[in-house]
Amino acid sequence: MSSDLRDLYQQVIVDHSKSPRNFRILEGANRTVEGYNPLCGDRITIFLKMEGDVVKDLSFQGSGCAISTASASLLTEALKGKNLSEAEALFESFHDLVTGLQPVHEEPEKLGKLAAFSGVCDYPTRVKCATLAWHTLRSALKGEEKTVSTE
Ligand code: ZN
Repeated sequence: MSSDLRDLYQQVIVDHSKSPRNFRILEGANRTVEGYNPLCGDRITIFLKMEGDVVKDLSFQGSGCAISTASASLLTEALKGKNLSEAEALFESFHDLVTGLQPVHEEPEKLGKLAAFSGVCDYPTRVKCATLAWHTLRSALKGEEKTVSTE
């Protein structure tokens, strides 16, 4: 990865951790799931408003490190308006990215801004920070109303 690209990715993460998007309680949410990453202490609540199999709207609240907050913020931007199979595909692409299974340069357009997390695979302890919101979201999509823990 070029240093320019690395800087750009860093900026995206800093921006979203300092001013997270969709950081609020969602009025009319029909699914709410909490996630917890004991390794780092990150806590997150995802609010989902589903219409059929489409994510009509979503938001989050919580407190955690920069990586977990930025990840949740970018997730809410990426998932709005997606249907269940699109959401699942994005979850898998993101998971492969941060665990290093799929180098970002192979399909950068599929992930968009989420590619900013490509550096996370070099820091195994941060992978759970980056995926917390996604595991929580997945549980919410499946209609499992419970607390998700990464441990
Ligand atoms: Zn964290």
